[in-house]
Amino acid sequence: MLLMDSVYLIELPGKMFLPNINVYLINCDEPVLIDAGYGFQESTEKLLHEIKRITGSRGLEKVVVTHAHPDHFAGTAVLKRELNVSVAAHKLAVPVLSDLKKLAINYYGFENNVSSFIKLFLQGLCKAEPINVDVVLNENDEIKVGEYSLRVIHTPGHTPCHISLYLEEKEVLFSGDVVVGEGATWIGLPCGDVAVYIDSLKKLLKMKLKLILPAHGPVIYDPKKRIKELIRRKLSREEEIVRLLQEKPRTVEELALALYNEQDRYRLLWLLNVVKAYLKDLEKKGRIVYRWEKGKKIYSVK
Ligand SMILES: [Zn+2]
Ligand SMILES: [Zn+2]
Repeated sequence: MLLMDSVYLIELPGKMFLPNINVYLINCDEPVLIDAGYGFQESTEKLLHEIKRITGSRGLEKVVVTHAHPDHFAGTAVLKRELNVSVAAHKLAVPVLSDLKKLAINYYGFENNVSSFIKLFLQGLCKAEPINVDVVLNENDEIKVGEYSLRVIHTPGHTPCHISLYLEEKEVLFSGDVVVGEGATWIGLPCGDVAVYIDSLKKLLKMKLKLILPAHGPVIYDPKKRIKELIRRKLSREEEIVRLLQEKPRTVEELALALYNEQDRYRLLWLLNVVKAYLKDLEKKGRIVYRWEKGKKIYSVK
């Protein structure tokens, strides 16, 4: 779908509990794609078809990966093979993109079941392969796209390597997962950090933005309002946790069940990491403490 001169939205499918993802194609001389979707066939077939339809004989020059999550990078391996594109990502993404074991440990917190997580989730479900980054990006780098330029804005918090891309001429931000069009951004340990995420959002608030094009959810026409809403959501979750701990001391598991009422054990594993990220932030702010009891951390207000 053509959103504005030269900027196309391609919505790629998810699967089971994996969400759909928006990738964006800027079709100028030397076209650039922002994010690449999953690596499974339903997604890569659609992506290749759309790239060929939109760019015609120009082909694709480069893929910029906003961060090292498989919904954003897994499709790049096919693009490298089929279209010989170069891959650009933030310098902190380089070691985890090229090594799925590092990705599993550093970004998902797997210590014991690393190889089955890689086999079942990263390679199995997402069809991710390790990729080598050809263009290493840093804060404020400019990526030339025909008559336009994309400025690299480092926006960590969801992951340490997360970047957003600013199309200065049009005051448009490609926000990856840092600003999502619906729901809220997932911030979980070990790689997520609530305070760092809020700082990234505050950094975006200072920019001139007409439009945000997120990786998930609809186009955001009122950027400031949406960014403020996301900040509020994170802070009000923290207040909710403090209130629950004022009632009585609780473990991480008890907090997760009280907050999310989640019975599904697989999802609970992800949610525990989310609660842990909030607890880490509240601890740093000096609002809560914990003590060990029978091998478990019991949290309470300070
Ligand atoms: Zn992500
Ligand atoms: Zn995502």
